Amino acid sequence: MLTVEEALAEILSRVKPLPTERVPLMAALGRALAETVVSQREIPPWANSSMDGYAVRASDTTRTPARLAVVGTVTAGSLPSRALEAGEAIRIFTGAPLPAGADAVIPQEDTNATDGHVTLNASVSVGAYVRPRGEDLRVGDAVLGPGAALGPAEIGLLATLGHSQVLVHRRPRVAILSTGNELAELGREPGPGQIPNTNTYSLFAQVVEAGAEPVNLGIAADRLESIQERLRWGGGADVLLSSAGVSVGDLDLVKTALTQAGAELHLWQVSMRPGKPITFGSLGGRAVFGLPGNPVSAMVTFELFVRPALRRLAGFAAIHRLRLRARALAPIANPGVRRGYLRVTLERDTRGWGARLTGDQGSAILTSMVRADGLAVIPGDTTIPLGGDVEVILFRDLAIKEV
Ligand code: AMP
Ligand code: MG
Repeated sequence: MLTVEEALAEILSRVKPLPTERVPLMAALGRALAETVVSQREIPPWANSSMDGYAVRASDTTRTPARLAVVGTVTAGSLPSRALEAGEAIRIFTGAPLPAGADAVIPQEDTNATDGHVTLNASVSVGAYVRPRGEDLRVGDAVLGPGAALGPAEIGLLATLGHSQVLVHRRPRVAILSTGNELAELGREPGPGQIPNTNTYSLFAQVVEAGAEPVNLGIAADRLESIQERLRWGGGADVLLSSAGVSVGDLDLVKTALTQAGAELHLWQVSMRPGKPITFGSLGGRAVFGLPGNPVSAMVTFELFVRPALRRLAGFAAIHRLRLRARALAPIANPGVRRGYLRVTLERDTRGWGARLTGDQGSAILTSMVRADGLAVIPGDTTIPLGGDVEVILFRDLAIKEV
């Protein structure tokens, strides 16, 4: 049986970033940049004041209190009417251009203004409260590169640089299929022997959260034709994502349905708990995942395999979740040979992060997923003692650069 790392490597070797498109800046949040952005501007474009106060020559302020003649005012959005001479001050406001001849700003709080003059109660050095031209960005500076995740700061920076449109990768379209005769659709009260369809909705949400676009293929009955018909409906998608029917039961028909439809299956069964029967293949150039049916198994295998693949397809350079090391706040047992991905909550105290199981680790216990901050990675046949070290995969993105 494959390890999680082997399975993920196999999956990632078969997905590459989708084509690019140019979108309005306001539509670029959460997308992966597909171009190198080089600054064509000096930011700020000219030296300006970082305080409300007076533009002065620092050399005029060495003896305090100094008394300078106020010869003008410059506000943000206006230009100084003339250059500053020795012995003079110009009233200046935050963001206003520094007048020629001035080399410092003295904050208003350190002054007293009287009849056309200002008295300085402190001295300032050259450059004080002045934001120099190009302090943030110079023309030619490389600002963002391909694969950058566009968050609020990146969007703001692109606006600063005048990019009303940006080149990004297309978002992956992901068709989601639930399978099982027992499933009752949301909006219908489950009848005798039926259970609510959960996976369509949790997977739908995970797809959106990963930066992709979900398409709902509904529920297929446990019949080959039913599964194949709905898979065809997903023909326009980049990824097909089914859940359930991949185990070894008589009605576990997803793999057969896929191979009969012409899919090539690259892997089935990974040594992990929950989620062992996960299946991955290709169908007509699309990636196909057959996730296990239990709601937690579906979510966990999505996290570990589908999400990185979607992030790769979406063009992101950083595709993995953040991991951290924590102390076990109570023993964490993983009986059985398969590696455990156990739901934990995290708590922080003076000694750092601590991890605690969310409770029953059954693969159908969705409430333990609700309480979880992440998954503790525990080797097979291992009990981490109280205080022992555990690695936790957070349900949060890795924001820093991957090396
Ligand atoms: P299976 O692999 O088809 O045997 O499914 C494993 C378990 O997951 C069974 O208990 C199913 O009833 C359950 N299950 C399958 N699909 C869903 C779904 N969409 N929502 C909730 N539970 C499901
Ligand atoms: Mg089933």
